[in-house]
Amino acid sequence: MNTSLQGIGMTSLRTRERMIKRLSEQGVHNKRVLEVMRDTPRHIFMDEALSSRAYEDTALPIGYNQTISQPYIVAKMTELLLGSSGHLNKVLEIGTGCGYQTAILAQLVDQVYSIERILPLQCKAKSYLWDLKLKNISYLYGDGNLGWPDYAPFDGILASAAPVEIPLLLLQQLAVGGVMVIPIGESGQQTLQRVTRKTSGYDIEELEAVTFVPFLSGKD
Ligand code: SAH
Repeated sequence: MNTSLQGIGMTSLRTRERMIKRLSEQGVHNKRVLEVMRDTPRHIFMDEALSSRAYEDTALPIGYNQTISQPYIVAKMTELLLGSSGHLNKVLEIGTGCGYQTAILAQLVDQVYSIERILPLQCKAKSYLWDLKLKNISYLYGDGNLGWPDYAPFDGILASAAPVEIPLLLLQQLAVGGVMVIPIGESGQQTLQRVTRKTSGYDIEELEAVTFVPFLSGKD
């Protein structure tokens, strides 16, 4: 890896190792998730002025009123999505944002389908993910409420923005046995939920209080 990808000082591997230690103390146990987060430079997904803060456990602005999710949330949601299944084939992500969560997913599942409603954010994310040579990602500029029917059903669905209730089309595009991890609720009172599709019906677990940007309708 070249120096800007690998990072120096506050963006170095050592800094990422400290982040990983903190994540395991916070209760993230999946070894593969921790390894991938240790090896993925997070600082390249944000403006240079913020890169020294890239490994703090905090959400940071990425422009257009959006934020990159805090490392703990990325780790937790990825761990919940993978669950006990060793392997996921197709995963749908709603809200590509800067692409960091996409980068983590792409190293753990076969193919990521990622939807974003703000075009300039999607373009930036594509170039960062290209720099990391992650090629198993398909991008859609569109409204996540509609999912991506052409590639459904998905083994996993992960949303990085919070709707007030689970979009019906996303439920329909989840494979039987598949898992959706999604924050639900109005701003200030959201909970992270894990929805598992059963042969008939869905199992819903309410996990923890979270703070996400709203899941909006239509394209920007
Ligand atoms: N995982 C991303 C999170 C970005 S914030 C990151 O770490 O960078 C959430 C993103 O969801 C924003 O980019 C926002 O534009 C997008 N979003 C919100 N509602 C959406 C919708 N209906 N369809 C697609 N993307 C949506």
